[in-house]
Amino acid sequence: MSSLSPHRHDNRPSRPLAVVSNREPYLHSLAGDGSLTWAPTTGGVSVALDALMRERGGVWVAHGAGAADRQAVDDDDRVLVPPNSPSYALRRVWLNESEEHHYYEGFANEGLWPLCHVAHVKPVFRAKDWHVYRSVNERFARTVSDELPDLAAPVFIQDYHLALVPGYLRRLRPEARIALFWHIPFPHPEKLRLCPYRRQLLEGLVATDLLAFQLDRDRLNFLAAAHAEFGAKEDRSRVYVGGRSASVCAVPIGVDFDRIQRVTRDPSLESEMKRLRRELRINTPIIGIGVDRLDYTKGILERLAALDALFSRWPVLRDQLTFVQIAVPSRSKLDSYAAVEADIDRQVAKVNAKHARAGDDTGPIRYRKSALRIRRLVALYRLADFCIVSSLHDGMNLVAKEFVAAREDLGGVLVLSELAGAAQELGDAVIINPYDVEGFTDGLRQALDMPAGERQRRMELLRRVVAGRDVLRWATDILEGLESLNSAPLPPGPTDHRQRPNPTMVTGAERLPTKG
Ligand code: UDP
Repeated sequence: MSSLSPHRHDNRPSRPLAVVSNREPYLHSLAGDGSLTWAPTTGGVSVALDALMRERGGVWVAHGAGAADRQAVDDDDRVLVPPNSPSYALRRVWLNESEEHHYYEGFANEGLWPLCHVAHVKPVFRAKDWHVYRSVNERFARTVSDELPDLAAPVFIQDYHLALVPGYLRRLRPEARIALFWHIPFPHPEKLRLCPYRRQLLEGLVATDLLAFQLDRDRLNFLAAAHAEFGAKEDRSRVYVGGRSASVCAVPIGVDFDRIQRVTRDPSLESEMKRLRRELRINTPIIGIGVDRLDYTKGILERLAALDALFSRWPVLRDQLTFVQIAVPSRSKLDSYAAVEADIDRQVAKVNAKHARAGDDTGPIRYRKSALRIRRLVALYRLADFCIVSSLHDGMNLVAKEFVAAREDLGGVLVLSELAGAAQELGDAVIINPYDVEGFTDGLRQALDMPAGERQRRMELLRRVVAGRDVLRWATDILEGLESLNSAPLPPGPTDHRQRPNPTMVTGAERLPTKG
């Protein structure tokens, strides 16, 4: 055991955890002077799980993707993090270029991502991608098995990149306590049927003790798929397959409300907002925003069509409204992503040319293709009179919730697609359908015309929802659900879980909030 063993950090009130994800919480790189430097990963989920790990200790297993990651680890591929205040071990899994290509870009993002989103991009399934996905998942499982801080340590796996990890891990560690959260939508069984490897994926997922989805819609799709493929029985939130059972629940993810609040209360926020205004050359009284990863599921083209219609119907708005679109490039090597990026580039140029302002050739849309750090992001949220989330299909959409969390001033209107998971909870937003250009445009007009009293009342209601279910509560609900299963006595019999029915296990997940 290396000196970086997570066992050094187990004198804490609750049991150490094993978190497993594709993306790591900290990346190492080399500074200009050749010294080793590091940066935390951005994004709400990563930050929240990091906070949880700091509190509980344990190990986080993830793909080592930083340029100088290898220089930072010990002989066992571990590094203590956060680097400036070591609290838990990060165990890095190495993938070569070909593995990354087939497992991550190929099977996960060209196959599973479009399979799970209704966005009319055809999923691509290649045998080679599948083989590599399997072998990478197996490697993750072996690594988790090697690293488990103690035999009953909860293992919390993230997302569709790692669907087979529960099955492989179960074989290596029959007694492991495994939860997996599926962050994206789960497809209807008819669509899942497109995937030639669906049975193996489902087998991987039912090897969990607790399987959690964003929405009841996803949970029901999963149960229907398990029934269609294996004749699986469902009883009171548990699915029974091949002699074992898993709790299946819906636990919508939230954002780190308190952290966002802290940023909004920072005295420097005001100057950050001014700086943004200057940099984006905004000199109109009204500001709209969109903040997305550059992805075909986000409905950016549909948003541009609605903005185009808005400026056409009310040309006076050209001089009154600036729309800021932040689009963070992702998965750019894939044709489907390169294509949507090129379409958006063209569309922004077209709308700007069509609605150019007198004496100003820039037009009303400011388009930036780079990521903002949390402070700038919150400043942008606070600058906005309205924020558009127009996903064609989205597991949740954290931007919608972050915008609400940032609006302690009760200003701003959220214009939200009914096809984003967040719409299930945020019904007080202006709800639009991105496929309906006219209705979407009316929604934008409604946002612009909304009286201050109604705006504040809606925002207050939205904030209650977002504050009431933050990301730590999400993680705690899942882990407590898993741990309450842990406290149930294991049924007697051979150690191979797969061989025995397990009807006596406490159905702890029933305590979890299920939407429906
Ligand atoms: N994000 C960011 N900087 C940006 C744009 C986005 O940090 O410039 C973060 C944003 O705060 C949010 C996440 O990226 O936490 C996007 O999550 P969401 O659920 O909206 O979409 P996803 O990218 O997961 O599909």
